[in-house]
Amino acid sequence: MIDFLDPQKGKVREQYGKKSSLIGIFVNVFLFIIKFAVGTLFHSVAVVADAVNSLADAGSSVISLISFKLSSKPADEKHPFGHERIEYIASSVVAVFILLLGIELLKTSFNKIVRPDEIEFSFVVVGVLLFSIAAKLWLYGFNIKLAKRIDSSMLRATAADSLSDVLATSSVLLSTILSPLLGFQLDGYVGILVSVFIMMSGLNILKETLDFLLGQVPSGELVELIDSYVKKYDGVLGIHDLVIHNYGPRRYFASVHVEVDAKEDILVSHDLIDNIERNIAQDLGIHLVIHLDPIITDDPFVNELRELTAKVVSGVDDSLSMHDFRVVKGFTHSNLIFDVVIPHQCKKSDSEVIEEITQKIKEKDKNLFTVITIDRSYI
Ligand SMILES: [Zn+2]
Ligand SMILES: [Zn+2]
Repeated sequence: MIDFLDPQKGKVREQYGKKSSLIGIFVNVFLFIIKFAVGTLFHSVAVVADAVNSLADAGSSVISLISFKLSSKPADEKHPFGHERIEYIASSVVAVFILLLGIELLKTSFNKIVRPDEIEFSFVVVGVLLFSIAAKLWLYGFNIKLAKRIDSSMLRATAADSLSDVLATSSVLLSTILSPLLGFQLDGYVGILVSVFIMMSGLNILKETLDFLLGQVPSGELVELIDSYVKKYDGVLGIHDLVIHNYGPRRYFASVHVEVDAKEDILVSHDLIDNIERNIAQDLGIHLVIHLDPIITDDPFVNELRELTAKVVSGVDDSLSMHDFRVVKGFTHSNLIFDVVIPHQCKKSDSEVIEEITQKIKEKDKNLFTVITIDRSYI
């Protein structure tokens, strides 16, 4: 099963988040203190700016600590869907923070090109910068490992930030060493490159979080999991119209139509879907609502028309699929009632699809009328 769906993992998630945040605060405050001290001592604005960068990271870690604390809060009267989406908001805040920092560094770098500083070279500065790079590389590895384990956008954002810090500090180190050798102040130019990189990483996190907030297509893995879970029950002839929502990384709600034999007793069929709903909640932590669709399977007239219609539908566009097929027989003509799913990659409009299907069915038999409902795919 997918690790993050396990309801038992909620506590673990909070603990990992807290661990990452506390370590982040400790490491970054320490880096700020030593870099600020040597930067001031040896008159290097670049090193001081790099120190401020670390202080900002400590600030982001405080935000993530608060967000992990708040998002693990259980559902309550006002927020029955829980508080997990706070993580998405906190990620956006961190992203904007990184973006602003990038803009700030860009300004500082321009100023350094216009008015280069006399920088005093010292191996103490080199040593402190090397230590800072090593610490950030370690933080990156640490956070990316935790992020993968609990599938956290917040921790992934923190890891991405650690990596951009490695580049920022490396450029400071490079210009610290090269500038006195070349007799030319490099750091302004290197600074511009690094600020652009930092701004890009902020924008990327913002974009990813926006995808979560807007609601994205569920992972194929999750769709496959629900599909095979429901279909393994005896009496389930097929499923369609699966819709999946989430209110955070672990809070999933879904609905699906389950096809059952129309001849089966309604009480038996209802019992079947009730069992599926209860079991999937227990096993996967997904709150699933199932709609029952009776299917006529033993009427040769209906079967023949269903086959004909399915052929026509896939003939119009092979990405189309059909379900909920019913026939209302009349003396002079019959009505075919069914739904057609148009996936987003299909470029035909709803009315084009309806028109083409209706026309093609008419060509087969002019006494067949169609009542078509168009569905848009949510998976
Ligand atoms: Zn249906
Ligand atoms: Zn029920």
